[in-house]
Amino acid sequence: MKKKIAILGSTGSIGKSLIDIIKKDKKKFEIVLLTANKNYKELYKQSKLLNVKNLIITDTKGYNFLKNKSKKLNIHSDYKKLNKILKGKIDYTMNAIVGLDGLEPTLNIIQKTKIIAIANKESIICGWNLIIKKLKKNKTKFIPVDSEHFSLWSLINGQDKKKIDKLYITASGGPFINLPKKKFDKIKLSDALKHPTWNMGQKITIDSATLMNKVFEVIEAKNIFGVPYKKISILTHPKSYIHAIIKFNNGLIKILLHDPDMKIPIQNSLPDIGNKNIKTKSLNLKILNNLNLNTVDVKKFPLINLLDKLPEKSSLYETILITINDNLVHKFLEKKINYKRLIYLINKFSKLREFQKYKKIKAKNVKDIYRLRNYVSFKMNSIGI
Ligand code: NAD
Ligand code: MG
Repeated sequence: MKKKIAILGSTGSIGKSLIDIIKKDKKKFEIVLLTANKNYKELYKQSKLLNVKNLIITDTKGYNFLKNKSKKLNIHSDYKKLNKILKGKIDYTMNAIVGLDGLEPTLNIIQKTKIIAIANKESIICGWNLIIKKLKKNKTKFIPVDSEHFSLWSLINGQDKKKIDKLYITASGGPFINLPKKKFDKIKLSDALKHPTWNMGQKITIDSATLMNKVFEVIEAKNIFGVPYKKISILTHPKSYIHAIIKFNNGLIKILLHDPDMKIPIQNSLPDIGNKNIKTKSLNLKILNNLNLNTVDVKKFPLINLLDKLPEKSSLYETILITINDNLVHKFLEKKINYKRLIYLINKFSKLREFQKYKKIKAKNVKDIYRLRNYVSFKMNSIGI
């Protein structure tokens, strides 16, 4: 029987990588749903390539285009009718949407899928308490796809978290790891978009340059694996060969390494062809003999200090942090602010006194999270950037 699969955010970097893997093994899979925000041309192309009948496109222009394009396709503009679109429980869903908009689709689709692989780190960071409740209720298996978390998940392999002494995630350090501190003020957008090891969407590429991505990934690891912040550390490792290290209480230290290619965690999260051979390079002794693992230079990457002020229990403050960063990274991508101001403003807004009370408040539902996101955006606009 073919495995039934849904891909949310299929037109992005992660979504396209998954489609590349699946199209080589078409006989094994039936794609029951593809979704995107704006890129209707790519979505339409994908639907033809893989013979997919159900499409969700949230942008109005794209929705109108696809609606007129073909009567044979079922086109939807939101994720509310998943119950009708998906008959019974499908085998696997990948959530590859970027941003907090991915949370509601995650929550809606959990009851309709046996496995949910989540690349969309924003939903894990802001809505983990809501996600875990749904996973348990619907007996849905969760697989993290962010490379460090996929590595940690593989190394832990279902073992009790009490056996963990320390988790380490690596950071390539982005394009500025070797840049002298005095040159940071002159960084241009084009410099920040040149990631040395990973090929990713624009938003996460900027977060990797500022190292905000690692702040998010520490929160992500704390949520997924249920270990306190003090047991999670970041190590810079420019070659991105090692992704995670775990020191267990029994004295064993396990390291997971693979080429910096997201197709590796993505393929290994798939049912059925997870164990299929993947064409990769042979063991790279040159890198292994020169791993170059270091702690983060917080003078160059001050956003890492934000980790010191985070509440141990999941709270609405994480939504504030994600929203502040999201808004400012978009301003940076639009060249409305420079790199120096990006860092300054992330720091300034995240320390705003009014936001601190949310460190003690937990989201009761997804509306709490989206309402707060709107409020934070409104507040940032009213203060001015
Ligand atoms: P991307 O920008 O390349 O693609 C994003 C996808 O989400 C697109 O298909 C887009 O149409 C869709 N989308 C955007 N806004 C949407 C909305 N409002 N509603 C519905 N769909 C929407 O992003 P990406 O680099 O593929 O990253 C996707 C997620 O995976 C992010 O959360 C990112 O942090 C995480 N991630 C990515 C990588 C990577 O290598 N790209 C690695 C680790 C984690
Ligand atoms: Mg990562």
